[in-house]
Order: sequence, then structure tokens, then C-alpha cells
Amino acid sequence: MFFASDNTSAAAPAVMQAVLTANDGYAMGYGNDAIMAEVTRLVREAFEAPEAIVHLVSTGTAANSLALATLVQPWQTVLCHRHAHIADDECGAPEFFTNGAKLVLVDGAHGKMLPETLSAALKGVAQGVVHGVQRGALSITNVTEAGTVYTPAEVAALTAVAKAHGMPCHLDGARFANALVATGSTAAEMTWKAGIDVVSFGGTKNGCLGVEAVVIFDPAKDWEFQLRRKRAGHLPSKNRYLAAQMQGYLQDDLWLDLARHANDMGARLAKGLTQVDGLRQWHPVQANMMFPEWTAGTHARLKAAGAVYYPFPAPQGREAARLVTSWSTTADDVDRFLAAF
Ligand SMILES: *Cc1c(COP(=O)(O)O)cnc(C)c1O
Repeated sequence: MFFASDNTSAAAPAVMQAVLTANDGYAMGYGNDAIMAEVTRLVREAFEAPEAIVHLVSTGTAANSLALATLVQPWQTVLCHRHAHIADDECGAPEFFTNGAKLVLVDGAHGKMLPETLSAALKGVAQGVVHGVQRGALSITNVTEAGTVYTPAEVAALTAVAKAHGMPCHLDGARFANALVATGSTAAEMTWKAGIDVVSFGGTKNGCLGVEAVVIFDPAKDWEFQLRRKRAGHLPSKNRYLAAQMQGYLQDDLWLDLARHANDMGARLAKGLTQVDGLRQWHPVQANMMFPEWTAGTHARLKAAGAVYYPFPAPQGREAARLVTSWSTTADDVDRFLAAF
């Protein structure tokens, strides 16, 4: 009953097998291996973007920070949701790698920005005034940090505001596959067709060992990204092992199957929780992550039954939690957890 995060799951067998298959003989380093060429082909195919640039890193923080550093100058802004991972969970790495670009936090219910709130935040950016930071980029997370999902139309509405101000757009897709499955949209519809310029395409949480792809739709940005990545210490020498994970992940649409299962388990869990007396969800449950609030005393019972998850601060007499399902969550895990109530 591991609901702490989707990163508590093991690697999917097919991903592990791809790594074992790659573990044979010699391969050139630093991305000049045959598997990387295949990964680039697979990513381009998945995103219907024949020119896209693909680079692999081992953490989402590196993917996000290096992507943003390639999009903005130090005196510019990155607009993002108030609770974006880049704002709350990356220890200042985006500011560090951009050489100090300022995160401007946009409010919004359920982890989502609206075009109106984004426009309002942009009004606060003193464009053209030497005393203020200048407009930079927009960063959107999908699945959001609240477990909700933007549709491609919602992404496009946000990027339209950004583009009207000349700002490039980044998508933090640590749970990108879960967002696609939840909305029934394609990778292209969710990204470049909706105005996204660079994607952090997550693998780790959805069945890889540790790999994220940075997908850049404008080839002109490639060289700068490559230099920044190397300078940051994120150019893997034995790149073939990262590439192998991504290859196993993309092969035969495994990434979408794994995410579909994670989301199905999320839906099963959320449905079961509607039967629990006095329980309320903080946010609509749309993918594989939820934030239920229940009566005090429940944590002790669930922990005693062996459940693992992160508790969240809650009002007096209440308790709250974050629950995340993954590709490896079983229906039995969910049902035993529900029975523990
Ligand atoms: C997990 C996660 C990341 C990546 O985090 P790392 O620990 O750096 O791999 C990025 N964005 C979101 C929204 C996440 O949930």
C-alpha cells in the first residue's frame, strides 16, 4: 500500500529488459550511441515532430531548470503557478541555472492558472522599465501539482496569453503520460499544437529507473541547451543506459499503458473514498494523485494497517494526505487500503 509517490514504484520489467539488452559490448558515450538515435526517432514519432531535439537527463529538476535557462535571460521572469514544482520543490535550481531569473507566482484554484490570472500577473511585470524584471517565459505543469489536468485547449489558452507578449512556453511533464491518458489527447495536441516550445517529458515516475527527456521543438535552441547541460554536469557519459530506459518506455506505447493503469488505480481509489464518511477531496481527481481530507485519528489506523503516504497539514480535528498511484499499484493494494478505513 505504497501511495507516497509514483517514484516509490519499481522500474517496469520492459524498461529493465531494455537496460539489460543495452548492457552488451561497446557503445559511444555522451549520446552518440545507436539507442539514442532510436530514442530521438521514437520521441519525434510520438510528438509528431520530425525536427524535435531530444536530450536526456536523470532528474526532472535538471530538465526543468535547463529548459528554462535556455528560454530566458537572467533579468527576465518565469511565470508559473504558485505551487509549481519549480517554485516549491527544486531548491532554487531554476533560479540558479537561469542565473537568477525571477519566478513570478500565479494564483489559481486546484493547481491551475487561468488566462485571466496569468494576464493579471503579467500586468505586474514592469516591461520596459529598467528597475523591474522583464517578461520571460511561461511554465505550465501537466498533470498539475494538485493532481488536476489541463486539456490541450486550456494549455493553448494560457500559451496564447504568453505568446501575445512574446514569451516562450515550457511544459513540466513529470506526469505527461498521465495527462495525455486523462484527456485522451496526443502528445502533439498537448504541446507544440497548443503553443508549447519545450517539454520536460517524464519517465522516472511512470516506470523508468531515472530518466527525463527534454524535448525542444525549435532546433535553433539545441546548441545552447547542449552547452548548458554539459556545464551543469548533466551530460551523461554512459548515455546509452538512459537511452535504453527511454527506448523501453516508448516502445509499443508502454508509457501510455503504464499511465493508463496508474490513472485507473487513481480512479478506483477515488471512487472508493467517496464511500468514506466525512471525507472530502481538496481537488477534483483527474489522474493518479489526490489530496483527501478525513477525520482525525484515521492516519493512525491506516499506518497500523501498513499504508505509506505523506500526511498534509489540515484544519483542527481533521487530517489530510497526498495519495499517488502508479503503474505498479494493484487493485488489491487499493482495496486493502479502502478496507483499512
Ligand atoms: C517529480 C516531479 C518533478 C521532477 O522531480 P525530480 O525529483 O527532480 O526528478 C518535476 N515536476 C513535477 C511536477 C514533479 O512532480
